[in-house]
Amino acid sequence: MSQQLQSYLSGAWVTGSGAGTPLVNPTTEETLASASSEGLDLGAALAHARETGGPALRAMTFAERGAALKALSAAIHEHREELIELGIANAGNTRGDAKFDIDGATGTLAAYAHFAKSMPEGRGYLSDGAAIQLGRTPHFQGQHVYVPRHGVAVHINAFNFPAWGMMEKAACALLAGMPIFEKPGTPTAMMAERIARIIVDSGILPEGAFSFLVGGAGDLLDHVGPQDCVAFTGSSGTARILRAHAAFVERGARLNVEADSLNAAVLAPDVEDDADVYDMFLREVSREMTQKAGQKCTAVRRILVPEAMIGEVGEALVEAIARVKVGDPADKETRMGPLTNASQLASVHEGLEKLESVAEVLCGGRESPFDKGAFQMPTLLRASAGDAAPVHADEVFGPVATLLPYSGDAGEAACLVAMGGGSLVSSLYSDDRAWATELALGLAPWSGRVYMGASKISEHGMGSGLVLPSMTHGGPGRAGGGEELGAERGMQFYMQRCAVQGFKTIIEGSFTA
Ligand code: NAP
Repeated sequence: MSQQLQSYLSGAWVTGSGAGTPLVNPTTEETLASASSEGLDLGAALAHARETGGPALRAMTFAERGAALKALSAAIHEHREELIELGIANAGNTRGDAKFDIDGATGTLAAYAHFAKSMPEGRGYLSDGAAIQLGRTPHFQGQHVYVPRHGVAVHINAFNFPAWGMMEKAACALLAGMPIFEKPGTPTAMMAERIARIIVDSGILPEGAFSFLVGGAGDLLDHVGPQDCVAFTGSSGTARILRAHAAFVERGARLNVEADSLNAAVLAPDVEDDADVYDMFLREVSREMTQKAGQKCTAVRRILVPEAMIGEVGEALVEAIARVKVGDPADKETRMGPLTNASQLASVHEGLEKLESVAEVLCGGRESPFDKGAFQMPTLLRASAGDAAPVHADEVFGPVATLLPYSGDAGEAACLVAMGGGSLVSSLYSDDRAWATELALGLAPWSGRVYMGASKISEHGMGSGLVLPSMTHGGPGRAGGGEELGAERGMQFYMQRCAVQGFKTIIEGSFTA
């Protein structure tokens, strides 16, 4: 019999009623578990978090919250092997994919524990900048401060990073002093539920600071109030539904959206095929296409190459992709497993069909050499014109990317990237400082992050897809317009900025860092 996943609400493990949604092994198609939130009292659970977890966390200093994050990181890391197995079974992750997710989670917790060390001692609120003289004499001063909001941090996450997605939001909210209410993506919730149990069993967090919901969101948002914050990661379609909800429109809760993104990589015209930056470009683009079977919000979807080089680049990328062994992720030789489930495969096929209307398939396509499982072979397409509309319109959430020709002009490349309507990350590969600067500035208004590959850093580059706790993550427009991480910047969403004005001695003594 398959496992029935549980939620942790109001300080107890509870099971939703009904059959729930089946969670499968996408390689064998076996049903492993089910998840249901039916009949659970989400209003009471949010109230418990708000009334019990909130005050407990706010009573802690940054140093104490940071110590809790460090301990959580260690507790989760202790179960790394078990979590890797769950990623392989329930998400089609290779060992490498699962490690990327789990180590991303523990690494982000550890990084936030480290950031806590440079925060004000003996307190749990932040100063924003320096005190400002407001009156004619220095007696009357003002200081902006960030205090924890008195609500719940509701985290609604996508299926593709059950560990990292959950803990990157948790790290920011907990350090800011807000209790968290995690709702993971259902298809891969087995790993998230295991992590939830590790957190609860560890006893590291105070009562009410952590709640966990498996299955659909149900009426969760109906109970979200003005001091609550909802951080959402998922598709732009779901984001559209959330944005219109009364929780935000009428009650003024905060909403941060991390949505989908048609990230682009641009190769510069100065790059010769024997340059280190050329190898870097090929290596990173093929990895960003195939890691986690392309189910990464930061995966490269559009590859802009100067027209004169596009044939050669296409051949080199096809060769690099062919080296990625696709198969059962439990096999150590495998470098790319299946998609997360049959419905993701169907949606990738639908997207590919649209791309095929404007682009030629250089490798991959909709055929699978496997007789079962949600396998999608890595697929590279080549469009004949840089402005081929569907390539800039539809996110195909799998190992799929399209080569687009352009003239080599940085301004033209920036305009083509902007056709994606806003990206999480845009990357460029060039050793020409003037060209790289012009393009980076052209990309910046449309990108949450600009990753600049160059020969001098070809061995140090981390790949454009790596989300770092010290740098912000999020992008404008279709990418959701949200912002996460970036050290203290990621905590500000969970805190209220207040301008405190008064007598210098009190302002400087209590509010200035
Ligand atoms: P999704 O279908 O939009 O679901 C995301 C989350 O929203 C899930 O937990 C889902 O729950 C929940 N949800 C769905 N409908 C809801 C509603 N009406 N009210 C409240 N919650 C609701 O996205 P996905 O398929 O899980 O993830 C893939 C997408 O996420 C891709 O587009 C990818 O680009 C994007 N993504 C973005 C980032 C980023 O940082 N920008 C990171 C990762 C992924 P159920 O699972 O129970 O339906």
